[in-house]
Amino acid sequence: MVKKTACGVCGRVQSGWYDRRLRRVRALPCGAWRIYLELEVRRVLCRSCRRVKRERLEFLTDNALYTKRFAYSVGRRCRHSPVKEVAEELHLGGDSVKELDKPYMRAQLAQAGTPAPKVIGIDEISLRRRHTSRSVVSDLSRGQPIWFGGEARSEASLSQFFEWLGEQKSRGLRLAGMDMGKPFRNATQQHGPNAAILFDKFHVVRPLGAALDQVRKSEYARLAGQERRFIKGQKYALLSRRENLTLEGRQALRTLLAANKRLNTASLLKESFGQLWSYEREGWARRFFDNWRAAFKWQRLKPYEKFAEMIERHWDGIAA
Ligand SMILES: [Zn+2]
Repeated sequence: MVKKTACGVCGRVQSGWYDRRLRRVRALPCGAWRIYLELEVRRVLCRSCRRVKRERLEFLTDNALYTKRFAYSVGRRCRHSPVKEVAEELHLGGDSVKELDKPYMRAQLAQAGTPAPKVIGIDEISLRRRHTSRSVVSDLSRGQPIWFGGEARSEASLSQFFEWLGEQKSRGLRLAGMDMGKPFRNATQQHGPNAAILFDKFHVVRPLGAALDQVRKSEYARLAGQERRFIKGQKYALLSRRENLTLEGRQALRTLLAANKRLNTASLLKESFGQLWSYEREGWARRFFDNWRAAFKWQRLKPYEKFAEMIERHWDGIAA
């Protein structure tokens, strides 16, 4: 069989080749063993690129340092584990892991075809320890990511998604779930005029955890002696879900909450807030929220008051 050699950069098929080089390529591991393949890779003197270039090999990543199967396996792991953990386990640098994640993402997106989503979820993921971030848009009915890009969490960034989707399909959007920040909301209102905006439970409840932590800090600053000692080192216990705590953790938390009424109230309020999503009718949810808010009216829980005001401002999106 005569093997055709194509330029790795432009894909132009060449007659003959320039030279051959030995390359070490990382492949799927075998148990605990890291596996490297040594292959002979041709180089071509490409007439389009007017340079000597590596040949294109379909089973390798673009940089020809890894097999595609290895890259996909890294990409799959990245869906469930933090980059740092994947990097340590595979003896790779964090940036290499992110590079390797891209072919998987691209393959996933290509598989999804040209979507015409009705319901989307918008999220951001941070790269390089939060110095930069990307937006990810998922088709929630199909449970698949459909777009990935942009730079910072900005209106312009998400507008790129709508440009990619096209005007007609953007008009077909019925519902968009997102966090409560302005950039995503503005872009969606501008480009997807028929989409109702929804703030999902996760994004709504998250600031409440931060509010509880602020109460913890201010109580710690306010108190002295024994009462103060109860609070020390209890951040995790206070912010975790009860069922995730050890017996010891639960006991320490009980002691703390018995000793500090304000923290006790704040903690109970946080635990109960999730109920909001159990109501099928907006009227019932509204009554629950009004009662919930009334429960701390005289408690001087400033962070909670702020949280409640934010919920009030975004009520339409949450009720959706
Ligand atoms: Zn070329």
